[in-house]
Amino acid sequence: MNKKKRVEIFTRLAAKNPHPTTELIYKTNFELLIAVMLSAQATDTSVNKVTKRLFKIANTPESISSLGVLRITEEIKSIGLFRTKAKNVAATCQLLIQRYNSQVPRDRSALESLPGVGRKTANVVLNTAFGEATIAVDTHIFRVSNRTKIAAGKNVNAVEQGLMKNTPKEFLRNAHHWILLHGRYVCKARTPDCEYCIIVDLCEFKHKSNS
Ligand code: SF4
Repeated sequence: MNKKKRVEIFTRLAAKNPHPTTELIYKTNFELLIAVMLSAQATDTSVNKVTKRLFKIANTPESISSLGVLRITEEIKSIGLFRTKAKNVAATCQLLIQRYNSQVPRDRSALESLPGVGRKTANVVLNTAFGEATIAVDTHIFRVSNRTKIAAGKNVNAVEQGLMKNTPKEFLRNAHHWILLHGRYVCKARTPDCEYCIIVDLCEFKHKSNS
């Protein structure tokens, strides 16, 4: 895909949604971190249901830590991988208290040192909490990038590198949200809605459903 097409794709996505953000509901950087940790292999809607209740009970490293793993497990049991996530949330709260003055660190290696926080979660937090131009490649972004050829790649790291290298600078800060939302609502996994897609003439997917 050439630069002109990429610029046009992002121009259209930006015009449709000038101020995109995550659909996870949060009020503080800490709440965002916990919500993103819980969102692995779970929908944002299911996470929002859980955090709506959880954050009323506890929404700081100290208060969640004091719940203990068993109570956290009980509170988040409606989402996938809840046992592992409960342990990671408890351990992350402890580390935030011990090492980071109960603050979410604005540093990739510090974030990735927290239990249950991988590159994708760190990228979401750096982007959404701190405004950094990072791109967290999830299943939607991986699919859309490969279908359209905005950034084709065999694995998430390759796609992330391609997007970071080839996304026009002025769109880098929000590219993550635009591509993700496009994948969630239009370029869906099973059947992409090519008929209603605003970038159909630019997309290089061979199997567009209107062709
Ligand atoms: S044209 Fe179809 S395959 Fe291409 S981005 Fe749009 S929905 Fe996805």
